[in-house]
Amino acid sequence: MKVLVLNCGSSSLKYQLIDMENEAVLCIGLVERIGIDGSILTQKKDGVEGKYIVEQPMKDHQDAIKLVLAGVQDSVYGGVKDMSEIDAVGHRVVHGGEKFASSVVITEEVEEAIRACNDLAPLHNPANLMGIDAMKAILPGVPNVAVFDTAFHQTMEPAAYLYGVPHRLYDEYGVRRYGFHGTSHKYVSQRAAEMLGKDIKDLKIITCHLGNGASVAAIKNGKVIDTSMGLTPLEGLIMGTRCGDIDPAIIPFMMRKEGLDADGVDNLMNKQSGVYGMTGISSDFRDIEAAAEKGDQKAIDALDAYHTRVKKYIGSYAAEMNGVDAIVFTAGLGENGIDNRMAIASNMEYLGVKMDAEANNVRGKERVISAADSQVKVLLIPTNEELMIARDTLALVK
Ligand code: ADP
Repeated sequence: MKVLVLNCGSSSLKYQLIDMENEAVLCIGLVERIGIDGSILTQKKDGVEGKYIVEQPMKDHQDAIKLVLAGVQDSVYGGVKDMSEIDAVGHRVVHGGEKFASSVVITEEVEEAIRACNDLAPLHNPANLMGIDAMKAILPGVPNVAVFDTAFHQTMEPAAYLYGVPHRLYDEYGVRRYGFHGTSHKYVSQRAAEMLGKDIKDLKIITCHLGNGASVAAIKNGKVIDTSMGLTPLEGLIMGTRCGDIDPAIIPFMMRKEGLDADGVDNLMNKQSGVYGMTGISSDFRDIEAAAEKGDQKAIDALDAYHTRVKKYIGSYAAEMNGVDAIVFTAGLGENGIDNRMAIASNMEYLGVKMDAEANNVRGKERVISAADSQVKVLLIPTNEELMIARDTLALVK
């Protein structure tokens, strides 16, 4: 059984073809600049030198997906001889609202429900739907499965998901906290339980997904009880270009001071903020670290603020769960940021966390990075959202 996993953005598309017999990735690719000048598809295959590259105009996702399907059939860089070998397609869908607490086979009704969440994720859901429509047109009869970023967080209780705003905003517009990166939080929490040789139902885990977008989740007995992102992925941690938690009064204040409209503040908070806005240097933590090492004060302060915010969430989630057994670091910065992990998880002995600097001196490998006598285990676990999507897809179409 071979599953194609698609993650469609507004102008990009990431894909992996996975053989579910052994969960091997047959090929992996990225299409960029869909619908704009300079469209390009790049695909790689493990163990094969070089890359498969296609540079030609792609006016929409359907054009891009046709080229993806040609790529996965390539005799050198592909993974199947014929399209008919693709048994199912798993789509990452960002927002499932309150409708979806798990993955589903895509039907007309499901598409309609995804469309109903467009307002909540205007940059993502329409792109996800374009991928679904393109797949249906090009591979009719092959089942499509939607795996939602929000689904794993649907176990949150009103205490965690309600905002302190008039209840009618929830009733009329669905204004509540949803949470994102659910597929990643689910994958790494399950792996943490496996690595610790424990049943996830007996564990309190805090998962820190620290990528360009970043979120923390509190997972008690296998269920999310709280997470740092909210109605949209803007809430919570300081991120690459997103501000995370701020005093909401800053919004009307800035609107008045700088004459901004709704789109203007949206852009300010989502694209011009985070460590990028705080430093004026970059949204990439490697650049911020390099500047901090040279003594750039804004870079030093931004890193401190970033680490403090993560620490604050870990502390609050330990309080919410009445303790914590394991803390997991994942995604770009979580997997690679040796100093960042150390800065976040050191000086937390009061919580029972004791890091092992030597064990922590590693990038991108599954490993326990806390000291042997640390009451709380700290783990580095590379995330694998694509595998999770493929597993859900297999389970639903088998
Ligand atoms: P995305 O949210 O785009 O999927 P990733 O999970 O790939 O993001 O994380 C990307 C981020 O990880 C980069 O912006 C960079 O800040 C950070 N990162 C990657 N490698 C390192 C590293 N070696 N040290 C510190 N940060 C890193």
